[in-house]
Amino acid sequence: MLKLTNTLTGASDTFSPADGITVRMYTCGPTVHNFAHIGNFRTYVFEDVLRRHLKSKWKLLHVMNITDIDDKIIAKATESGVDIREYTAPYTEAFFADSAKLRIEKPDVITPATDYIPEMIQLVEQLIASGHAYQEGNSVYYRITSFPSYGRLSRLDRRELKVGARIDADEYEKEQPNDFVLWKGPKEDTEKRWEAPFGPGRPGWHLECSAMAMKHLGETLDIHCGGVDNIFPHHENEIAQSEAVTSKPFARFWIHAEHLLVENEKMSKSKGNFFTLRDLLEKGYEAQAIRYLLLSVQYRKQLNFTMAGLEQARNSLDRIKRFILRLTTAQLPEGSNPEIKAQITAAQREFEEGLDDDLNTARALGALFMLITEGHNALDRESMREGDRAEILSWFVDVDSRLAIVPDVEQLVAPDVEIEALVAQRNEARRNRNFAESDRIRKELLDRGILIEDTREGTKWRRK
Ligand SMILES: [Zn+2]
Repeated sequence: MLKLTNTLTGASDTFSPADGITVRMYTCGPTVHNFAHIGNFRTYVFEDVLRRHLKSKWKLLHVMNITDIDDKIIAKATESGVDIREYTAPYTEAFFADSAKLRIEKPDVITPATDYIPEMIQLVEQLIASGHAYQEGNSVYYRITSFPSYGRLSRLDRRELKVGARIDADEYEKEQPNDFVLWKGPKEDTEKRWEAPFGPGRPGWHLECSAMAMKHLGETLDIHCGGVDNIFPHHENEIAQSEAVTSKPFARFWIHAEHLLVENEKMSKSKGNFFTLRDLLEKGYEAQAIRYLLLSVQYRKQLNFTMAGLEQARNSLDRIKRFILRLTTAQLPEGSNPEIKAQITAAQREFEEGLDDDLNTARALGALFMLITEGHNALDRESMREGDRAEILSWFVDVDSRLAIVPDVEQLVAPDVEIEALVAQRNEARRNRNFAESDRIRKELLDRGILIEDTREGTKWRRK
C-alpha cells in the first residue's frame, strides 16, 4: 500500500491509479531561460524516485511540460532579437543533459508550450463562453470569483479575494489572489504573438499546464507534482481553469516537494549560495553524490544542502562501492546460508515499506546500509555463500533501478592486467622520483579497491 501526502487533503492518503492499471502523472517542467539550480533538481530527483517507485507497481504515463513561453523568456528573447525557440533551445538541451548526469529518467511525453497553442486557445474560448473568463483591453483574464472553490489547494481565505482586481504577471505572491491573465495581448510591437479569435497574444503560464496535461492525460490526472513554490498561484490556477471547463477534479493527488536550503539559508544569488548543477560539477563534486544528497531526505521535509552533506553523501556511496567490491571479489563456498537469506528478505521488505511510507527515502537507504553491515560481518565470519552473494547483487540491481545510486559493478571490478599496468606505471614514476604521479596512481588503485604494499621483493597488490 503506497501512502502519499496529498496537498489537497492535507493527509497521507493511500494511492492507486484510478483505473487500477496505469498511473497518469503530470510534473511541471523547467522554464527554459537559464540553467536549472539544485533547488529545482531537488524536485526533479524526487519526481524521478516517485516515477521509479510507481513503475515498480503499475504502468506509468508521465507527462512533463517545457515552459518555453513566459514573462522572462518573452522579455529576454525580445531583448536579444531572436525567436523564442532559438532563445530557449540551448537551455532545454542543458536541462536534459544535467538531468542525465543526475540519472533522472526522461518522462514518457515531453510537451513544449509552443507546440500546444491551439489547445490553449480552445481552453480560453471555453472559459469565455462559460463566463469564467473575460476580455479587458487586449488581454483575457480568469474571473476567480466565478469558481467557488478557488483557493482550496493553497488554503487561501475566500475573504481575501479581490473582485475585479487583475494581475498580468505569470508569478506573484499569495497576497495577490486577483483575476489572473489567460491570454496576454502584446505590450510591444516586437513581442512574439500568436493569432487567436479573441485577438493576437500569447498564453499565460498557468494555462499552458492545464492544456498540455489534459491533452495527454484526460480530464482527471492521478498525480500532479511540483515544488511547494508552485502551489500558489500556479497549481491553484491550473485547477480553476481545468475544473471550470470539465466540472471534474483536475488531479486526484497533488504532491509537492519541500524547499531546499543551502547551508541553512534560502538560496539567493546575492548571498553567493546559489548553485546550478554545473557550478557544483565545476567545483569537482560528483553528480552521483549530488543525487544521493538530494534524495536522502524525504520530499516532504526541507533539505539543507551543505558541502559537508555532499562529503557525507560521497562517503555513503563509497561504502556501497567498497562492499560490492569486497563481495564480488571474495572466494565463497557454494550453497546459501539461511540466516543471510533471512537478512536479505528483511532488508528488501524494509526498503519497500520505506518507499511505500510516503516515499521515505531515508528509511529505504537505512535498509540498504543495514544489509551492508550484516554482509561485511558475514564475510568476516566467512559465513557468506555464493548463493547469498548472487541474491544480494541481484537486489542491488533492483535498488539501483529504484534509487539510481548503486555504482556500476562491471566498472569497479578491474581485470588484473589493468591493475598490473597501473602498478608498473607507479613504479616507473617512483624511479623517476615523480611522487605526485605515484601518489595519484596509488589513489586511483585505492578507489578501485586495490591496496598496494612496497616490499623488498617489489610492489605487491591485493584487493581490499
Ligand atoms: Zn505547471
